[in-house]
Amino acid sequence: MHADLTGLAYLAAAICFIMALRGLSSPETARRGNAIGIAGMVIAVATTLADPGVVSFELIAAGVVIGGAIGTIIALRIQMTALPQLVAAFHSLVGLAAVAVATAAFYAPEAYGIGTVGDIKTASLIEMAIGTAVGAVTFTGSVVAFAKLQGLVSGAPLVFRGQHPLNAGLGAVLVLLVVWLCLAEAPLVYWLIVILALALGFLIIVPIGGADMPVVISMLNSYSGWAACGIGFTLSNTLLIVTGALVGSSGAILSYIMCRGMNRSFFSVILGGFGVEGGQAAGGDDDERHVKAGSAEDAAFVLKNASKVIVVPGYGMAVAQAQHALREMCDTLKGQGIDIAYAIHPVAGRMPGHMNVLLAEASVPYDEVFELEDINNEFATADVAYVIGANDVTNPAAKSDPESAIFGMPILEVEKASTVLFVKRSLASGYAGVDNELFYRDNTMMLFDDAKKMTEEIVQSL
Ligand code: NDP
Repeated sequence: MHADLTGLAYLAAAICFIMALRGLSSPETARRGNAIGIAGMVIAVATTLADPGVVSFELIAAGVVIGGAIGTIIALRIQMTALPQLVAAFHSLVGLAAVAVATAAFYAPEAYGIGTVGDIKTASLIEMAIGTAVGAVTFTGSVVAFAKLQGLVSGAPLVFRGQHPLNAGLGAVLVLLVVWLCLAEAPLVYWLIVILALALGFLIIVPIGGADMPVVISMLNSYSGWAACGIGFTLSNTLLIVTGALVGSSGAILSYIMCRGMNRSFFSVILGGFGVEGGQAAGGDDDERHVKAGSAEDAAFVLKNASKVIVVPGYGMAVAQAQHALREMCDTLKGQGIDIAYAIHPVAGRMPGHMNVLLAEASVPYDEVFELEDINNEFATADVAYVIGANDVTNPAAKSDPESAIFGMPILEVEKASTVLFVKRSLASGYAGVDNELFYRDNTMMLFDDAKKMTEEIVQSL
């Protein structure tokens, strides 16, 4: 294909990717955004295949068929709650691909038009050294993140003395090795960069655990983008440079938004050590605070007599896959003239937009779904807050207890509703491991059960 045409097609693909990101920023336009992204990728792949430099279509076809088949099977089988580890696994492949391409370019520079063995252009050496270093960090970092999220190793932070100085020292050595490679172009230095970066990726991610893992995934997403961007320079592929930069910067922005939603600084996340694995029992054996527990019939009675109900979904709804039962319950209530709204906290669940995706899957109308800042004032006028599998995002300790791990995080002020119905299985804490004193308040009724089962029983009772 003529170079101008290739450039034009790549520009069209890049515009598609930017529009896709724009579309993905809102649930209403997310499907369209996805479709535009797919169109951009089709243009990108078709244009690349039309490049006269392509020597073997057989190998590419085999890669597309095998990779496509594996991807399709995984996508069809994956549970929504397992998406974070799937994303981590995919990022590890991007990192590995960056290392593989850089290595190929290092040993066969002629094929890439960047010089000859022993005489690679300095600019190309810098690009491939950075690309391979970031790729290797992304690879091991993502593998550790995957293993933690999948429960193959403990998800708790692994912290040891001298960890941060060690990482900083290794990072400095890595930079020196990159400089050395550019000066000497020695294979030994190249492989030292790869090995050191692999070790660094492992060491950066092991101290991070618990509630911070989703931020790490988004950060690794950003790294994988920058690795692809570096490789784009090696391959002189403008689209890969643009796409890598888009992924790199959007991942970084997403990490920032998530940190802001939890009121945590990015550096405190990266330095790690926060969050517990799973829920912890609140209080203790000698905890004698009174809890009011109710049945599905009690809840149905309260709901039926309300005129305004605000639903607050959280991670437990995702675990129980209760979104369809929830919509059915809300439809029944709406049929009885009761006003329904859904309140979404920015970090409810375990990934950004987690609740929006689940509610959309259950065909909840978008105009009933509100962000925290748009609905928080409404709780004071609501008769019932139906909190389904959410915990941390409602915890007033974020406002009142400066010692609390979640202090400063904006919360949904469910306690202002006349009655708060909490659907969860026990008094266990949420992911941050903080006791929630709302469970013991007079206007709270605990509905101890699996979120789906309890909601279905309420529907029956209604
Ligand atoms: P939480 O983790 O605070 O609480 C979820 C609750 O769901 C648990 O207390 C658990 O209680 C209950 N639960 C679990 N399984 C079920 C089930 N099958 N049926 C009913 N209840 C169930 O979730 P939130 O959504 O309130 O808060 C999200 C947390 O994740 C925050 O701490 C946030 O900072 C963190 N986080 C979120 C990110 C995001 O992007 N969304 C990113 C980073 C962190 P029990 O065991 O008693 O049932």
